[in-house]
Amino acid sequence: MNFKIKKTGFFLTLLLPLISFSQQEISSVNNDIFKDSIIIKNGFRLTLKNNDPKLSQEFKKNIAERFFLVYPKMLNHFNPKATKTVTIIFSNEDTDHPAHAVNNEITVFTKFFTNNGREKDIDVIVHEGFHLVQAYRYNENTPGWLVEGIADYVREIYGVSNESSGWVLPKTLDDKGNKYKASYRTAARFLLWIDLKVKKGIVETLDDKCRTGNYTDAVWEIETSKTVDELWDDYTKNYSL
Ligand SMILES: [Zn+2]
Repeated sequence: MNFKIKKTGFFLTLLLPLISFSQQEISSVNNDIFKDSIIIKNGFRLTLKNNDPKLSQEFKKNIAERFFLVYPKMLNHFNPKATKTVTIIFSNEDTDHPAHAVNNEITVFTKFFTNNGREKDIDVIVHEGFHLVQAYRYNENTPGWLVEGIADYVREIYGVSNESSGWVLPKTLDDKGNKYKASYRTAARFLLWIDLKVKKGIVETLDDKCRTGNYTDAVWEIETSKTVDELWDDYTKNYSL
């Protein structure tokens, strides 16, 4: 990929071959991994921050490349007004989840990937990037399962290496009685089924209603003549896509 990379440590890096180092200077060069990188491309500005001394440069590069490959497409498709200035923070904090997104900032928890052998799960940035595209106005009626379900639906559509990284939509129905409220991939497959079998464009409509703060459960009936629970019942009887 053709990235224009500006590093705040650029000046020091440039001088490296020209000057001799004290131990302190060498250690600061070795810690260059902690310097912010700013990548600007086609009007999008991505800042990469890191606090993980073990961060794989390949993982960092793959995440940045995937961001530039997919984020502009998602923005153009769903919300052209979404932010074009994004920060990705690589954090070595211990967590039980791979990443999260707040405002224009995505935090990727690197240990989650290395500890679980998920270094190839680069499309996580598609799901998190879509949370920035969502930029939903707060509305107590907007269900969390739908927010995450739409993000995973978009990951299914726009992800580049979902299958090869082991991320796939469920092949069988959730048997825990959670229905669509199981959220994430369970809800994503349900949305995909509705889009394919019941109402083309349902996800774009739901996404827009959530963004403008106008989502209510009545949307399902207005769009499909059925409640969300009736749709789920139909789905369980004809699960194929
Ligand atoms: Zn999410």
